Amino acid sequence: MSDASTNAAPLKLFNSLTRQLEPFQPVHAGEARVYSCGPTVYNYPHIGNMRAYVFADVLGRTLSFKGYKLTHVINITDVGHLTDDADAGEDKMEKMARAESRSIWDIAEHYKQAYWADIRALNIRQPAQWTVATEYVPQMIQFAEKIAPQHCYELDSGLYFDVSTVADYGRLARAQTDDGEGRIEAVKGKRNAADFAIWRKTPAGEKRQMEWDSPWGRGAPGWHLECSVMSGQVLGFPFDIHTGGIDHREIHHPNEIAQNQAFCCTNGLDLPANSGAKIWMHNNFLVERSGKMSKSSGEFLRLQLLIDKGYHPLAYRMMCLQAHYRSELEFSWEGLGAALTRLKRMYKAVAVQLSKEFESAGQPVDSTRAYLPIPTEEWEVADETGVLTEFLEAISDDLNTPKCLPLIEEVLGDKMISHKKRWHLIATMDQVLGLDLLKLDRADLRIRPKGVELDEAEIEAALLARKEARAAKDFARSDALRDELAAHGVEAMDGDPLGWEWKLG
Ligand code: AMP
Ligand code: ZN
Repeated sequence: MSDASTNAAPLKLFNSLTRQLEPFQPVHAGEARVYSCGPTVYNYPHIGNMRAYVFADVLGRTLSFKGYKLTHVINITDVGHLTDDADAGEDKMEKMARAESRSIWDIAEHYKQAYWADIRALNIRQPAQWTVATEYVPQMIQFAEKIAPQHCYELDSGLYFDVSTVADYGRLARAQTDDGEGRIEAVKGKRNAADFAIWRKTPAGEKRQMEWDSPWGRGAPGWHLECSVMSGQVLGFPFDIHTGGIDHREIHHPNEIAQNQAFCCTNGLDLPANSGAKIWMHNNFLVERSGKMSKSSGEFLRLQLLIDKGYHPLAYRMMCLQAHYRSELEFSWEGLGAALTRLKRMYKAVAVQLSKEFESAGQPVDSTRAYLPIPTEEWEVADETGVLTEFLEAISDDLNTPKCLPLIEEVLGDKMISHKKRWHLIATMDQVLGLDLLKLDRADLRIRPKGVELDEAEIEAALLARKEARAAKDFARSDALRDELAAHGVEAMDGDPLGWEWKLG
């Protein structure tokens, strides 16, 4: 983007540390370094988890769009995350490996791949680096060795961080109660209720599948330690932005911050720079009333379930974008259906624009759009109606995607703008929203639900035959074809404004 339009709307982001909107001022000129807490790969991610990455993706796309050189890191937690955020419970990975009678490494690989499939399906851009926790254990031990003398103490069960050794512990959570937010199950010998393990020793006589030698005995790193180490190692302290779901604002991130403060070795300790990241951002939750989100429920809400039911994954992305990331978003199938319809409308409008563009250029309509250039950042977009400025203002205002979506619709419906300009504007806006408006066709959104015995080619052939029959005014044949389709559970949709043509009855 040109400097002018970027400067016209400086980026403001809500910093959970200060609970305020703050202008984005990069630590390194022209760069943006972002770390997002990634998944614990002991199970499939649910769609709530994926909301966290859609949010981080929109943040990253916005930073890139504004011309910052983005370095985005997402970690993969394959060790150390306990079933309880406190220091009670077992390692999620160990537990799943036992339940499935597989090695932890198998489990981690399988669910990492499943997570990456969801990342691709949601058109989330690849980060610069995926950091895998088990690949950073030596660095974790070094980090712990550095902070241990002043900030940690050893118990039989492990090495613990003494939260009273850093200033303002828990400021991020805004809950500095004596009992550590009332959440910690007592571990005998802990100095403060909120103290947490940064190294967990393997109990005598036991063997874990994943364990390493350390100065505190054989064992495994604590989950909070992992993120401090991987973010600091790859991005350098302080980096710009740390993201995660709002649950992390309460325990995981305050603990990361405490470790980062200790590692940065300052006495004042209270400077945001010593928190590791300047800005901490949190997405609110996707909520679902019936409890299907929970991974412990039999059929939980994962992206594949949506696809199996015939919803394109980008409909879920659309659903996320329709809500501000800091608002709770309630999941419902009706809501998902509405998001899908909105997406269909957009794709259809883009297709209409495209065919006009092709026609005016005297070219045949190419449904693959293969030879159409995707406008790049350098393309000058003449913002004659001011809609792009509005878009920039909205996205720069703490990523207000719900305000951006109607602007796309406005452009698509504005007959005063030339097709070419419209094409450019849509391309520009979609760089930020990532709905793949230029690449996908509405037909791509049509997914046959799993378990429905139908051949799509047959449906299309029957619909074509029916169209021909109607054109030839052979209504008896047209009706017969419609009935035949209906007998197979397919409803022919005459005059569907979205041009969908058929749906499953
Ligand atoms: P986990 O794999 O449990 O560490 O979670 C991965 C990410 O998903 C974290 O950033 C969580 O904060 C986030 N998260 C968990 N549940 C939800 C939810 N229902 N809605 C939005 N984000 C969530
Ligand atoms: Zn983390």
